[in-house]
Amino acid sequence: MTAFWTEADYDDHELVELVRDPESGLTAIIALHSTHLGPGAGGTRFWHYAEPKDAMRDALRLSRGMSYKNAMAGLPMGGGKAVILADEKRTKSPKLLAAFADAVDGLGGRYVTAEDVGITEADMAAVAQRTQYVSGLPTEGNDAAGGDPGPFTALGIFLGIKAAVKHKLGKDSVEGVHVAIQGTGSVGGGVARLLAKEGARLTLSDIDADRAQALAAELGAETVSHEAIMSVPCDVFSPNALGAILDEEGIGRLDCKIVAGGANNQLKREEHGPMLAERGILYAPDYVINAGGIISVTLEYLCRTDGAPCDINEVRARIAQIPERLNDIWRTSDETGVSPDRVADRMAQKLIGR
Ligand code: NAD
Repeated sequence: MTAFWTEADYDDHELVELVRDPESGLTAIIALHSTHLGPGAGGTRFWHYAEPKDAMRDALRLSRGMSYKNAMAGLPMGGGKAVILADEKRTKSPKLLAAFADAVDGLGGRYVTAEDVGITEADMAAVAQRTQYVSGLPTEGNDAAGGDPGPFTALGIFLGIKAAVKHKLGKDSVEGVHVAIQGTGSVGGGVARLLAKEGARLTLSDIDADRAQALAAELGAETVSHEAIMSVPCDVFSPNALGAILDEEGIGRLDCKIVAGGANNQLKREEHGPMLAERGILYAPDYVINAGGIISVTLEYLCRTDGAPCDINEVRARIAQIPERLNDIWRTSDETGVSPDRVADRMAQKLIGR
């Protein structure tokens, strides 16, 4: 049997904790990648994994991703992630959430959790009954940071797409620019609305075809099937659904000049970033362009625990810095010939002292 710390995804993580509570049936992994910049922050995933090693892989990769994302967003937070190994029926109970909350609390603030796939706002509110180390809790009123991160993520992506259009196509506006959007949920739907307001031409797609149709009717956009979206001839392909879509086959199908969207872990493997660059496609590294939501939920947490400013204008001001960060990456990439994903990784590694 191989030890997990000899596996490819182990990247000198500071702590990997296995949490078992037979009484509630909880099995969870909490991974802290780096606390160089602050407590490891990142959500909790509640998922049924075919093999326990898949859960370990997710915890290791996602926590490293959070180190990079928080560092590049200029947040005083490190990278962490928790996964709860659900049974096949995904049984969730108050006891199980309580046992998980106690494990988070036991780390004394080295890990700050939040929602992720399979965990609702109500679940996190339950966790928050037993530990203060929770971000992304609902806030009162419209002028505060926190709450649903989707609209903030969408705003950052919209601004990032505009920056990419300026960099690659030399245009100051997205008016008439053709954007193909994969996924019209919380993030993709928000991006589509912002782009439509500025006169972009949109092609939408969702595995839930009715969802895409309804949005297309609202915005005067076109739709295509979810199988066809990656080969639509367009200026910008914006992935806002699944990760790992940019592999040899996916990149081969693209007929665009820019890839810029919110989905996490878009590149299937490391070599796929340079492959995009070789095809002359400008890539906006996912963890840089999709940081709007984490900026909002982190400011909500720091406001509650450290008295940091938490009004929505502060959140917007920080999201407005995303285009400049992307421009830095693209400039360095142009100057050095190193692909943008690798330039971003290197910048993030420097920020976390690695
Ligand atoms: P969501 O569940 O609201 O929307 C996802 C949409 O994608 C759904 O409508 C779903 O039907 C659709 N979809 C699934 N598979 C598809 C396919 N093969 N083709 C087309 N559409 C498909 O989720 P969301 O919050 O909008 O998140 C979207 C992506 O952005 C995810 O990868 C998520 O990890 C990432 N992300 C979200 C946030 C946030 O603030 N919500 C922040 C950072 C990153």
